[in-house]
Amino acid sequence: MKKLFAVLLVTAVLAGLAACTPSLKPGSASLKPFKAGTWIVIEDGGDDAKTYTFTDSMTECSYCSGLACMPFDYEISGSSYIFHMGSADDNSVVNAVFDGDEDCTLTWEDSGRVETLRYVGDKEPEKEENIYMVLVNKQNKLPDNWENMIELATGTNSVGENYLVEKKALEAFEKLRAALLEEGIDIELDSTYRTVEYQQKIWDEFEAEKGLDYARQYVAVPGFSEHHTGLAIDAMLIKDGEVIDDNDDMIAEKEIFAKVHARLAEFGFILRYPEGKDDITGYSYEPWHFRYIDSPEIAKEIMDSGITLEEYLGKQ
Ligand SMILES: [Zn+2]
Repeated sequence: MKKLFAVLLVTAVLAGLAACTPSLKPGSASLKPFKAGTWIVIEDGGDDAKTYTFTDSMTECSYCSGLACMPFDYEISGSSYIFHMGSADDNSVVNAVFDGDEDCTLTWEDSGRVETLRYVGDKEPEKEENIYMVLVNKQNKLPDNWENMIELATGTNSVGENYLVEKKALEAFEKLRAALLEEGIDIELDSTYRTVEYQQKIWDEFEAEKGLDYARQYVAVPGFSEHHTGLAIDAMLIKDGEVIDDNDDMIAEKEIFAKVHARLAEFGFILRYPEGKDDITGYSYEPWHFRYIDSPEIAKEIMDSGITLEEYLGKQ
């Protein structure tokens, strides 16, 4: 019974699919294989169609991915394509009218379904964003669903504080820390990942205690702190057994931080709020705030040219 249901389901989906026909312009010579690559369905018969991905003799579509019918063979027969969906004798005749070789209207002969396709080649229709290049600042909010896009790792630093940092960023920080220890410099994780909820709590407390104006001036708006990404690390120094984590004290450690900054890029970090870039980043100089961007090459480019992430990405 289940099997019959599955067959009916596949048949129903294919009937919908069967609406995609390469029909040739009247009088055209025989058809060529579809240009290999991905074609997006930009208009369809109302279904939730998305893409077809063609090779010379095969295609798969995103209609029924997950069902047993994909990918399937197709062949050219005179002025039509025949899509063998499911099996070789399961034929759907599809007529295509091409406008140039990157636009096409398909009509499925049996159902009359019409779809307009556009060739996008090798490009992924929904390109996965590089999470490590995300821009979160006073104008750019943390992307929705961010927590599902990253993997956080936890641990305890050498002064006994727990932290959460994005997994690769943490691995890179540990390597950076080890490299600096060889130079006699001891840095540790201070403030790292912060949830939007936690930032909201800080905001609410300041607002209740000191008023809205004060909160606006001194507290990052929840959702707009780079610490939400898990890719931002505030470091502290350990010098002669003493923890240095006060902002002014750290700014005074120019020599040490110059050495730290010189090693950031090779581990995929950048100095996120450089001196004199307040008008671009929205933050005063923070020698302790490092941002993991994953690519040592891009990090080197940014650090060598003394630009900000905003400038590298061409936005603010
Ligand atoms: Zn910070």
